[in-house]
Amino acid sequence: MELLSNPIDFLAGVGPARADLLKKELRIFTYRDLLTYYPFRYVDKSKIFKISQIVDDLPFVQIKGKIMKFEYIGRGRAKRLIAHLEDDTGLIKLVWFKGTRWIKSSLKINTEYLVFGKPTAFKNTFNIVHPETDLWEDYNKKAHVGLQGVYHSSEKLSTKGLNSRGILKLIKNLLPLLKNDIEETLSEKIIKELNLPSKEESLVNIHIPKNNNDFIRAQKRLKFEEFFFLQLHLLKLKLIRKKKLKGYPFPIIGDNFNEFYNNHIPFELTGAQKRVLKEIRKDVQGSAQMNRLLQGDVGSGKTLVAFLSMLMAVDNGFQACIMAPTEILAQQHLVTISDFTKNMNLEVGVLTGSSKTKQRIELHEKLENGEINILIGTHALLEDKVKFNNLGLVIIDEQHRFGVSQRSKLWKKNDYPPHVLVMTATPIPRTLSMTLYGDLEVSVIDEMPPGRKEVKTVWRTDSNRLKVIGFIRKQIKLGRQIYIVFPLIKESETLDYKNLMDGYETLVRDFPLPEYQVSIVHGQMKAEDKEYEMKRFVDGTTDIMVATTVIEVGVNVPNASVMIIESAERFGLSQLHQLRGRVGRGAEQSYCILMSGNKISNEGKERLKTMVETSDGFKISEVDLRLRGAGDMMGTKQSGALQFKIADLVKDSNILEYSRSVAIKLLEEDENLEKEENKNILKSYIPYAKERNNWIRIS
Ligand code: ADP
Ligand code: MG
Repeated sequence: MELLSNPIDFLAGVGPARADLLKKELRIFTYRDLLTYYPFRYVDKSKIFKISQIVDDLPFVQIKGKIMKFEYIGRGRAKRLIAHLEDDTGLIKLVWFKGTRWIKSSLKINTEYLVFGKPTAFKNTFNIVHPETDLWEDYNKKAHVGLQGVYHSSEKLSTKGLNSRGILKLIKNLLPLLKNDIEETLSEKIIKELNLPSKEESLVNIHIPKNNNDFIRAQKRLKFEEFFFLQLHLLKLKLIRKKKLKGYPFPIIGDNFNEFYNNHIPFELTGAQKRVLKEIRKDVQGSAQMNRLLQGDVGSGKTLVAFLSMLMAVDNGFQACIMAPTEILAQQHLVTISDFTKNMNLEVGVLTGSSKTKQRIELHEKLENGEINILIGTHALLEDKVKFNNLGLVIIDEQHRFGVSQRSKLWKKNDYPPHVLVMTATPIPRTLSMTLYGDLEVSVIDEMPPGRKEVKTVWRTDSNRLKVIGFIRKQIKLGRQIYIVFPLIKESETLDYKNLMDGYETLVRDFPLPEYQVSIVHGQMKAEDKEYEMKRFVDGTTDIMVATTVIEVGVNVPNASVMIIESAERFGLSQLHQLRGRVGRGAEQSYCILMSGNKISNEGKERLKTMVETSDGFKISEVDLRLRGAGDMMGTKQSGALQFKIADLVKDSNILEYSRSVAIKLLEEDENLEKEENKNILKSYIPYAKERNNWIRIS
């Protein structure tokens, strides 16, 4: 234990200069940091490649050959040393940018070397930049079997001898010192049940695998452990919150709920809606505060679930509110909910940025004296002036558009925090929600209301444009409306408008659509103008809506049946999915046409292909995760929670599921980790939790 906290400077082979670099470049400060600096890949040392076997996209390889000649290319800072390495099958070039003089003097011509590095295709040969080299004679004296770890290094570290192999040498100095200092972190019970190797054995084998089997077991154990402690932590937070945060119990299902459900509900609930309502009901019945995330694709019917939940609050004598990220969305909720309640004895209020002072004053009063049962609004709800008589349930629509501090403001609107339901139409893969929202209850609506026609999605290039325009005309003739969406260039949101107009003008220059009315909406517009343009589209005055992604969330125009996305390859998958969700809201067959250039990246192609193949938001999010990785997908803010040393959210989803179930079972048996048999776990968990206390909380 003590030893592990030693500064890295103390380790044999680490002088002051190296210590400095290890700290700066790799954030390795202590023995412990080095011990958990794992290889990012392994090479099979028993495999030696022939030069003719080298192809594109190979990882690190070993090649045996002779250096036949040196040459220098370029001058000044661009000067490079090239060595021609040959075997009996071909030639590969070794390239050095730095330390060239020393390297040239230390390598011998016409002598066999074992060379190690990553080949890259260059002109018509392959290069290996800054390879590692061993005299074959020296190398061959040792027995080499199996896997060798490859560590991330850096240019600077390499010049101080700390390339991958240099780091491995340090690890080899370190491991024998730690013989009695690596403590077990899991319980004997878990180790036995899962048949895991010990912590010490795993750490040794992850750095210096004895054989393939031991390596795989070590990897599994360390991945499991990494997920396990995270899940344990999230579950603990959930337990603590449940205990600490009392909620207002809603014991009854009362008149309003029953009346609506029996007499006014416009359609039968889907199975998924029913299931989710039961989950919510179970939460709000108890005396702990509900903290539930509801995920459901665009159009899956979250609003109805939200409304029925609000009725539960009202029937138990509480007020409820729903907060949406935009004025338009709030207005839409108002329309929907006013329609639901038109024959009921309920008071519904609305509060947005554009509410007039007089209305506000009246509304504030009615809220405080409890006349208003249900309040719909935007950020305006958060203002301190907005006081409730007895707020029991808060619903947050499109939760990712609100900051943590905004969401937490709603918590303070009553003596106890009200129950909280956050909703999102951006489904995220289960592995991600288990990691990010593992301390919340999660509900999923994974079923669309019946009778929905799937949006027909096609991918077209510019050469098909004439046909696409013909199709637009036909649809408009049938009385339908069309969206044409252009990407917004991130770097220049101020160019948004110009961008959009250029795009649209190019489009109509080649294929005029003069006979049609057009609404144009973009991010730089004043809110009133935007609203005006949208209204014209919503009421059918215009046939075509030309827009940047500002329409992503919000508008609901059932008559719009075609979504054309220009330069579709420039959009992310979840954005494409959101855009497509704008159509297919009415009874007519709807279409999504993805327009792209001919030359697009493989990843771009995969995105568009995925859109064509499926309309399941969860499947799409899985692909998105695979293509982009968790950090990018969720934004940098949350990526801290998604950084793992060895586990991989995409590849190790089974281990993740498993670790969560083990953690659940453990806490069921020993909530406070007090049992003697769990003392190892507790000992590791305490510092782990300390370190993570500042992690994002969702609400
Ligand atoms: P979202 O989950 O995107 O918020 P909405 O709540 O806006 O979805 O619902 C989308 C549409 O589906 C609305 O027009 C709504 O009236 C309709 N809808 C919701 N639930 C059902 C149902 N069980 N059966 C039929 N239509 C439904
Ligand atoms: Mg919605």
